[in-house]
Amino acid sequence: MAEPAGYDILLKGGHVICPANGIDGIRDVAVRDGRIAAVEETILPSSATETIDVSGKLVLPGMIDTHGHVYQYVTGRFGLNPDMVGVHSGVTTVIDQGGPSCMTLPGFRKFIAEPSETRIYAFLSAYLVGGLEGHYYPNLYSPDCVDIEATVRSAIANRDLVRGIKGHAEIGGFARWGIKVMEMAAEIARRAEVPLYVHFGTLWGLPESGANGEDADTILERVIPLLKEGDVLAHPFTRHPGGFVNQQGEVHHVIQAALDRGLKVDVGHGSHFSYRLAKKAIAAGVVPHTLGADMHGYNTHVPAPAGTPEEHYDDENHPFKGQARFSLTQAMSSMMALGLSLQDVVPMVTINPAKMIGLTDRVGSLTVGYAADISVLDDNRGRFLLRDNEDTKVVAERLLTPAFCLRAGKKFDADAVILPRAVAA
Ligand SMILES: [Zn+2]
Repeated sequence: MAEPAGYDILLKGGHVICPANGIDGIRDVAVRDGRIAAVEETILPSSATETIDVSGKLVLPGMIDTHGHVYQYVTGRFGLNPDMVGVHSGVTTVIDQGGPSCMTLPGFRKFIAEPSETRIYAFLSAYLVGGLEGHYYPNLYSPDCVDIEATVRSAIANRDLVRGIKGHAEIGGFARWGIKVMEMAAEIARRAEVPLYVHFGTLWGLPESGANGEDADTILERVIPLLKEGDVLAHPFTRHPGGFVNQQGEVHHVIQAALDRGLKVDVGHGSHFSYRLAKKAIAAGVVPHTLGADMHGYNTHVPAPAGTPEEHYDDENHPFKGQARFSLTQAMSSMMALGLSLQDVVPMVTINPAKMIGLTDRVGSLTVGYAADISVLDDNRGRFLLRDNEDTKVVAERLLTPAFCLRAGKKFDADAVILPRAVAA
């Protein structure tokens, strides 16, 4: 008699989609010693200590959220608990976008990346201050507050953790300092040999002196020449000025050439995501490469740490303001409601982000021998109401919700309090 295979966990009967390995069908997935041991059409339940029936569910490579804010406690109310955004939301890898800087990265490693159950990486802030208190203080982001040498050194010395650089190209910064900071951010990324992830869309708002001759609609065409293949344009569908759709309602003419040149697009959903503008850009052929939920403490509802700023100047008009709940998985449903297929959307949370961070050798696919990072989603059919912060309503006939994930073979239920609830249309 053959030796029993001795698997620890068997995920039985799910719809497995693994774009990297060309799998899209009913498969069983077996895990042993925290690693993927087999992906087969049928694996006997007797070969595993625990069998989980996942029939009717989607079984995906552990989802990667390319845009989170998880430098908890250090970045004020902005930074969420990493495992709340991660494994407890069905997401096995979270990339913090610009929370830590060269000055605060050691703390990020010790207090966030190391203790988290979720796999954590960072795009290092181009600014010395990092993402403290969610960028509420624009003057901390001037060219005087960037140290190219120190940031390059930090990125290179922490290559295991730092997978890119984060910068912001928006009208508030341009009106204050022009394009200088973006040139500095691009130099950091080039010298550190990692991608640059660029936030587009109003963040800081104009200084008292006004726009100073700057125009939100010209920022993309001036920044794109600084970028190279693999760099990332973020927030294409923002409802704020400076995204892919200009103030005349047209998709910016420089986008297609940028995509042809190998620049990437990350949804970076956040509270500024607009169905109206997404529909327009997708119809013009813009298919994002990665999804990025962009969850943080100002666009979700979690208690503020005592003594952190309760309100800020001009809160009412702040770009973060918004009530509609969202999540990485709900952003997948949104993309499908806008006409993309499940097969279009799954790569955006699996193999494409793995490529973005240069780690296809360990994440983004269900490859035998890789750590067993696996996301299991419910695939709900019906009529569900999705709403953005412009109050545009979209009816989704398919609503994906996280059920649970395995992170290196350890099971976590999707029980995060920030997850949106399904609303019937
Ligand atoms: Zn963000």
